[in-house]
Amino acid sequence: MNPAPQNEPVLAYAPGSPERAALRVELARQSGAVVQVPMRIGDDSLFTDDGAAIRAPHRHALVLATHPLARPEDVRRAVQAAERARPDWAALPQAARSRIFQRAAELLAGPWRQRLNAATMLGQSKTPREAEIDAACELADFFRFNAWFAERLMDEQPSSPPGARNWLEARPLDGFVYAVTPFNFTAIAGNLPAAPALLGNTVVWKPSPLAVLSAHHVMELLREAGLPPGVVNLVIGDAELVTTEVLESREFGGLHFTGSGSVFRSLWQRIAEGLPRYRCYPRIVGEAGGKDFVLAHPSADLEALTVALVRGAFEYQGQKCSAASRAYVPRSLWPRLEERLRAVIAELTVGDPTDFRSFLGAVIGRAAWERVRRCQELAATDAGCRVVAGGGGSDAEGWFVDPTVVEVGDPRHALLREEIFGPILSVFVYEDARLDEAVALVDEADLALTGAIFAEDRLALERLAGRLRGAAGNLYLNDKPTGAVVGQQPFGGGRLSGTNDKAGSAWNLTRWVSPRAVKETFVSPRDWRYPYLVPGD
Ligand code: NAD
Repeated sequence: MNPAPQNEPVLAYAPGSPERAALRVELARQSGAVVQVPMRIGDDSLFTDDGAAIRAPHRHALVLATHPLARPEDVRRAVQAAERARPDWAALPQAARSRIFQRAAELLAGPWRQRLNAATMLGQSKTPREAEIDAACELADFFRFNAWFAERLMDEQPSSPPGARNWLEARPLDGFVYAVTPFNFTAIAGNLPAAPALLGNTVVWKPSPLAVLSAHHVMELLREAGLPPGVVNLVIGDAELVTTEVLESREFGGLHFTGSGSVFRSLWQRIAEGLPRYRCYPRIVGEAGGKDFVLAHPSADLEALTVALVRGAFEYQGQKCSAASRAYVPRSLWPRLEERLRAVIAELTVGDPTDFRSFLGAVIGRAAWERVRRCQELAATDAGCRVVAGGGGSDAEGWFVDPTVVEVGDPRHALLREEIFGPILSVFVYEDARLDEAVALVDEADLALTGAIFAEDRLALERLAGRLRGAAGNLYLNDKPTGAVVGQQPFGGGRLSGTNDKAGSAWNLTRWVSPRAVKETFVSPRDWRYPYLVPGD
């Protein structure tokens, strides 16, 4: 039996370290070449006449890759390739499928590490640390832990009375899975097709147009690890066009989605409308947005709170679904916290992430930049808001915005309610005596992905965690609300933040299995009559 996996150690990239030198070499290599990314459909690498270019978010002038755009017939071919690959793939023993992903993890942790890290840094504007915890460690963890969970999924078996044997068998879903992935995590993008594939499903994978480069390298990694052609088919193109073709197929069996709630809801609705044509009830797993809170109790440790807010709100430019984006702070703590936040933010460098002094890179693209700038503008002009730090931005070289803290007077203001997905932390200052009202405000949100409570008073900590039971699928006590680790904090939110199927755990894997229950009777009855039917008194 396979031993339990360990989390991939996070390398530090300190000056003089071998990983720092290796990453620099790979960054230079990838910055100097334009990759022609193909679609991967069955055995084919496909290019089309129509295409698009990928540029580094932090340097408009740097073209990293070009890629094709799928035509309807390409999508239909991908669906057919998935269907063709299904029988052989589904028939493999689980251990044989698991080993391919375990091999992918070893390749990723070893010779492929800097390839994936550099592609994620350049294509998605991540700093070395952000790329390392995502593209190298989290993706390797997904592969290793899921392989391990998958082999244990059917350990729990039904009982068998004397004379018969009962058992459950794992089978994949009744049709192929459509994986639609977000830009912000290479690991999530890799896991959404990989988790269903691990369990014997075949997949059509549509990556985010904003993360095509890293998706391409993940696809190549899986091929190198031995994933047979057609098991995962990478289709790049217009989301509407690809989705329309995929959902037309009678063989559609499930959706594995991560992204914004509005897109998730529209997909769910379209699947519901397609029910008359499907051969099964498609499984729908979707993780969506957050408006993640940090609630500080008056007993909170000021330094711990400051670090959690800075890291939680600004790492990866606030573009994590789990990013701290609303803080509730007692009046007694606020003046000192405000001062500490200003001081730390003054030290944060925003810039090209390949310059290792940067703490923040650029936001992902023009639409994100404009959205964040509009929120900064709102904060600067709304009489009920006060910009405490930051507020600026520049699109001259790349899509840069400054880490920004805003004190917001109205607790139901848009800045405290809507996901911004950028480096803006909105703070509501509550009167210490009105803690209960602050807790009610935290809890009334529709999004319930992550949250954090800071308190040194243990009784208060327990009480607040109990009161906020429904407010987050992942709750952190005296820690930042970001940074879930596979195998340690299974991830997913409630309410409108998603179906909460807990990526990185056996819970998620159960969604990609359609078990068969089998009973064998050893000596079959040969008389149809039950004893009560025998004539007599
Ligand atoms: P997005 O919703 O814009 O895009 C996600 C995917 O959906 C992309 O592949 C995109 O091309 C596709 N898409 C867009 N429009 C579509 C349509 N009409 N039909 C079908 N597909 C469509 O999200 P994003 O900007 O890539 O990612 C950020 C969002 O994802 C945020 O809301 C964030 O909170 C969320 N997110 C959630 C989690 C989680 O685990 N809960 C993790 C990461 C990101």
